[in-house]
Amino acid sequence: MSTFLQELVAKGLLIPTGVDGVYGRSGVFEDALLGFDSYISRLAENDKAQVMRFPPLVTRENFEKSGYLKSFPHLAGPVFSFNRPPAEHAALLERVQNGEPWADMLAMTDTVLTPAACYPVYPTVAREPLAKGGRLIDVFSYCFRHEPSIDPARMQMFRMREFIRIGSPAECEEWRDQWIERAGHWLQDLGLPAESAIANDPFFGRGGKMLALNQRAQHLKFELVVPIATVEEPTAIMSFNYHQEHFGKTFGINQSDGEVAHTACVGFGMERVTLALFKFHGLDPDKWPAGVRERIFV
Ligand code: ATP
Ligand code: ZN
Repeated sequence: MSTFLQELVAKGLLIPTGVDGVYGRSGVFEDALLGFDSYISRLAENDKAQVMRFPPLVTRENFEKSGYLKSFPHLAGPVFSFNRPPAEHAALLERVQNGEPWADMLAMTDTVLTPAACYPVYPTVAREPLAKGGRLIDVFSYCFRHEPSIDPARMQMFRMREFIRIGSPAECEEWRDQWIERAGHWLQDLGLPAESAIANDPFFGRGGKMLALNQRAQHLKFELVVPIATVEEPTAIMSFNYHQEHFGKTFGINQSDGEVAHTACVGFGMERVTLALFKFHGLDPDKWPAGVRERIFV
């Protein structure tokens, strides 16, 4: 366990489950996380984003279409369940009892744990034509990524608050750029020295290296980073992604003039922001600086 993780667990803020990256959260942790969520809602109120809340799942059909398996097969969390006849139930229990593998007795269901909060949005907005000016959606969801780690900031299930812009290339890029600017200020107002950096996704395999280089060269992904686990490798507490035509093409989203829609999303890593608050201001929110407390605990 890292020292910071040990401190969080000792204080009861994170509750270990026995699997790296899977934790319960205490009431104090939740109050801070949800307080930060309200802070974002207040600051972004005038944007009038359309609120949508999905369960932390994406349909398997849409997941397969999205191309996630091409880039991140190692992170995926498809849902499996037992679908054999009752006569085979005893065999399943016996295997479990004996500590033998039992995965081959399961079959895939129609759902996959969502890897990012925005995934259910693209197929949804594809159902009706976009009006001029495009759309702006607000989502919040637990997300799953199979990346077990002892870094408390790298969890297997964590929440993302995301805003998604769907429209023309210029609309998406301008929107993304002004978000980098203002989110940086919002985080600095909370005493978090967030710095923006060009970034790339953790694409799988050898081909992935090229994809990552290309993403960086085109400035398609930015992050706001702060040191949480180590100073040398600061953690991304927020990401800003411009997907260009990817989701528009994949799910058939068109602009009002018939051109393929572009999309961009900005996402707050809710657990990471919360951990950063504990890291910078201490493990006891009662002792946080007044300026931080009044923004988070309204
Ligand atoms: P990283 O480079 O650290 O793996 P990422 O580039 O994969 O992050 P995104 O896919 O852009 O992250 O996800 C949006 C936000 O969700 C990130 O900015 C981060 O704050 C948060 N996040 C991503 N992965 C995790 C995780 N394993 N645990 C907690 N928060 C995470
Ligand atoms: Zn997204």
